[in-house]
Amino acid sequence: MLTDYRIRQRDHLLQIVRALTQQLDLESVLTRILKASTEMLGGRAGLIALRDQPNNHPNSVATFSIRAQHGVSPEFLRHFENILQNTSSTVLIDPATYIISELEQRLHMLARSGPFNLDGTIGLPLEAQGNLVGLLLVLRASASPSTYNERKILQAFADHAAVAVTNARLYEQVTQEKRQLDVLLEGSADGIMILDSGHLILRWNRALAKLSGVTPATALGNTHDEIIRWSNIPDRTLSDAEARGWPFANGSPLYVEGNLQQPTGDGRAVGITYAPIFDKNRRLANIIANVRDITKFREAEQLKSTFISVISHELRTPVSLIKGYAGTLLREDASWTKNTINESITVIEEEADRLANLIDNLLEASQLQAGGLQLNHSTIDIVTLTNKLTKKFKTQTEKHTFNVSFADNFPKPIADEERILQALSNLISNAIKYSPNGGPITVSGKYTNREIIISVKDSGIGVEAGDLNKIFDRFHRVADTETSHTQGAGLGLYLTRAIIEAHHGRIWVDSDPGLGSTFHIAIPIEE
Ligand code: ADP
Repeated sequence: MLTDYRIRQRDHLLQIVRALTQQLDLESVLTRILKASTEMLGGRAGLIALRDQPNNHPNSVATFSIRAQHGVSPEFLRHFENILQNTSSTVLIDPATYIISELEQRLHMLARSGPFNLDGTIGLPLEAQGNLVGLLLVLRASASPSTYNERKILQAFADHAAVAVTNARLYEQVTQEKRQLDVLLEGSADGIMILDSGHLILRWNRALAKLSGVTPATALGNTHDEIIRWSNIPDRTLSDAEARGWPFANGSPLYVEGNLQQPTGDGRAVGITYAPIFDKNRRLANIIANVRDITKFREAEQLKSTFISVISHELRTPVSLIKGYAGTLLREDASWTKNTINESITVIEEEADRLANLIDNLLEASQLQAGGLQLNHSTIDIVTLTNKLTKKFKTQTEKHTFNVSFADNFPKPIADEERILQALSNLISNAIKYSPNGGPITVSGKYTNREIIISVKDSGIGVEAGDLNKIFDRFHRVADTETSHTQGAGLGLYLTRAIIEAHHGRIWVDSDPGLGSTFHIAIPIEE
């Protein structure tokens, strides 16, 4: 009889082990364990409740929910869930046995008081590596207390259940962490690659594919140096650093900066941070490389140095003229005619105006950077404005002639008069500056139902195709001798474009290099 009992127990355990290795889902394995324990202990029904919170924080309260049941009536299940709730909310994780005995006690009370007729309940904790993961309860009708042997049998099943739960949770944890890693990698705006210790590429995220122009399919399985090509060799590379002992000296990340060469031949300025990961024996296991596009940073650096050289040049010229003329006038050993004095003071005044203008432009450019332009709208008369402007400019040049030609009934747009005046003034003053041999300058106006278009045409040096878009950028001046002979900080067109765009308009240029340029601005008639 006993032998038969042992054989059945062994068969049950074997089946459970098989279920565990077949990777059946956790609920099926637990139900199988429950059935076996109930049968072996002559129970009527059984329950497995698992702790909801797998972490073992000292202050966390153990909450349980029923995850497998066998032969339990719905009515009893409801009562039991109540007991479980009340027990778990008041009892801390430790000590596990306390929960079990309290549960058992409550079950006895329930069995005695209600219609369930259950008395010989046996309960055991499911423990894995010293942590309580759940409870296994077998409910019996007999009033006899559980024997040592019965508890031992149940313990064998409980141990298997605990293994199943731990495996399932570890598997879930690993899967969840992998999902998190995938989202992190693929969602990252920076390029990320993961290398093994021999620099073989194991991961290559979407951002890196975009940045490098190399698809993951091409990159994966190749080595770092086969895929990462530099158009200029950086001061140090990953291989150089490794040859000098990285990362074992201090384990800190390595930063490499250079121009990454895309398969199309284009270059991309990038900064790569290589972070080593070691295994438990302090051997290099992986390298995680974060690849950041630093084009914007480089551009900002470039802009800063352009700013300094343009501004220092533009400031120095008027300041030295003012100082020179003032110094001459102040010489005590010479006497000046009224005419010379007037001419000198005129130059000083003009140069001071130029300085003031430059400072205004700089302030406006930095205001624009900080948050756009404020406009004061009113109905404005562009034709009258243009006539006033050309009259003013006529007095400043003898080489140029001015034509103003506007279509009849030219509409009066709603716009900021001061700003439109500033924009037109910039275009006309450029037309003068960049046609050093003089010639006609024509300001003309057309309109459609929606917008007015004003064009400023000169017959000057023109703009090469490659510069047509760049001339609207901050501090951009065309790199040719003609431009270098004229004064300017490269801010006029930048500010003009900002003014026109603040009016929801457009600005563009047509040009024949050597023959002249025509700058056009279009402004909506009603905003
Ligand atoms: P600045 O005149 O102070 O240099 P702008 O922003 O007004 O700055 O113009 C930027 C550049 O565009 C100039 O340096 C010049 O090279 C080019 N440019 C502007 N207007 C003209 C024009 N009418 N004809 C030819 N080149 C021009």
